[in-house]
Amino acid sequence: MSSAPSFAELGLAPELLRAVADAGYTQPTPIQAQAIPVILAGRDVMGGAQTGTGKTAGFALPILHKLLPQANASPSPARHPVRALILAPTRELAIQVEESVKTYGKHTQLRSTCVFGGVDIKQQLPIVRGGVEILVATPGRLLDHIEQKSVTLGQVEIFVLDEADRMLDMGFIPDIKRIMALLPATAKRQNLLFSATFSTEIKKLADSLLNQPQLIEVARRNTAAETVAQSAYKVPQEQKRALVEHIVRTRGLRQVLCFVRTKHGASRLARQLEKDGLETSAIHGDKTQAARLEALKAFKEARLEVLVATDVAARGLDIDDLPLVINYELPHVPEDYIHRIGRTGRAGASGEAISLVDPVEMKYLTEIEKLLRKPIPISSVEGMNLTASRERGERAPSRGRADAGEARRGRGERAPHGEKTSRAPRSERAPSAPRPTREAEREAAYARNPDQPVPRKPAASPHPRADAGHRRGFGANRPVPALLMKRPPATPVPADVEPAPAAPAHPEKA
Ligand code: AMP
Repeated sequence: MSSAPSFAELGLAPELLRAVADAGYTQPTPIQAQAIPVILAGRDVMGGAQTGTGKTAGFALPILHKLLPQANASPSPARHPVRALILAPTRELAIQVEESVKTYGKHTQLRSTCVFGGVDIKQQLPIVRGGVEILVATPGRLLDHIEQKSVTLGQVEIFVLDEADRMLDMGFIPDIKRIMALLPATAKRQNLLFSATFSTEIKKLADSLLNQPQLIEVARRNTAAETVAQSAYKVPQEQKRALVEHIVRTRGLRQVLCFVRTKHGASRLARQLEKDGLETSAIHGDKTQAARLEALKAFKEARLEVLVATDVAARGLDIDDLPLVINYELPHVPEDYIHRIGRTGRAGASGEAISLVDPVEMKYLTEIEKLLRKPIPISSVEGMNLTASRERGERAPSRGRADAGEARRGRGERAPHGEKTSRAPRSERAPSAPRPTREAEREAAYARNPDQPVPRKPAASPHPRADAGHRRGFGANRPVPALLMKRPPATPVPADVEPAPAAPAHPEKA
């Protein structure tokens, strides 16, 4: 049996090996072992891998290696053109990817930064104008920078499209095509595309982007569903909070990620759990970027017992060894369930996901099971007096039937004969809702995307030309480049996903 190569055997530079060792990685993950040599050899790659597989280091390490000869400490922006461009669908993923680039490149002089929408572009201008070799961006905001001439792409040598299937779902493909048209010719650059799924549309996109790519596939879309122990409790909405408290306390857990569907629900649940004595915070689109990052930091440092999150805010979250994801409310789009539970069981670690299902949510559970193509074992919490135990102020109530079931499932054991752990009979389930069309799901996903610009109110203006949609301010009299003129109008963002007003500092590498 051939053993996997070490990072050193993959041929990476010593300064990168040091950073990898600092990060505590001892062995490349399968995607890294396969992708790094291919990228170092200059081939285009079509990578089938989702987050959690270590794919970011799989492309970031060879990119850093290839750009090392051009690393320099010159203060001149001209000596730091964008040489690698990484596009990501959401700001959370973009931040995460750029943090990884910084982590792996910390012993080099290569510069990187990250630009995304929903925050004031002015804060990003000095950093990008100062010059960076590696730019991580969401598509819309990158086009804004190109329009402002703060970024040029004429010297891009490596182009990465991360989570291409989510880009497609979010309606970013037209923007990506505009960006691709501004890059040097395909033959002059290396292209890497990563996607968890390969629909016909993704393959079409790959054909237009990649030059004789090497296909590397390490994980299918449902891998997280296979490595994460999943279970569900049938529990009325009003008992869910007590059950969360019970699970967290009886198991003495920290870093439990709890998903709800709305921003309002996230704030409310976080407040209630705090009141119950659990160290809790919430992240959602109404929080400022600074508040979100602070909550995330506290969570990563295990200072929180529970982090309550909405789907959009949690996208791209990357926390090592997350023990448990709780679906406090089931998502209405079944694919979101896979993204949620993918926050645990990362990079080969085992994880657990528990869904709390009110009877009216049974239809969503059925949809999720259809997508997973397997049933999720469901237990009843009847017989557990959760509310009473909380009111008595007990910190660790004795394990009830539900907990026994959890522990058993964690050990991969079956329920004793006669105990109620099987799926609820069909007759008890709510009727299945008609599945939304792919088109409707995409529209909804696009509308949820926090990177979309908020539509401006048509405020009365003393300048009639401005109201007519003409450009104002800097560059107003210059012709709009043809490529940029074709951008479609922004889809209105529902109140639930307003972008955070403040931007995090992304200081340029010293
Ligand atoms: P990604 O799929 O890139 O989002 O990475 C998922 C997680 O795996 C991140 O927390 C990385 O820090 C971690 N990771 C990446 N490569 C390795 C490795 N070779 N060994 C251990 N952990 C890794």
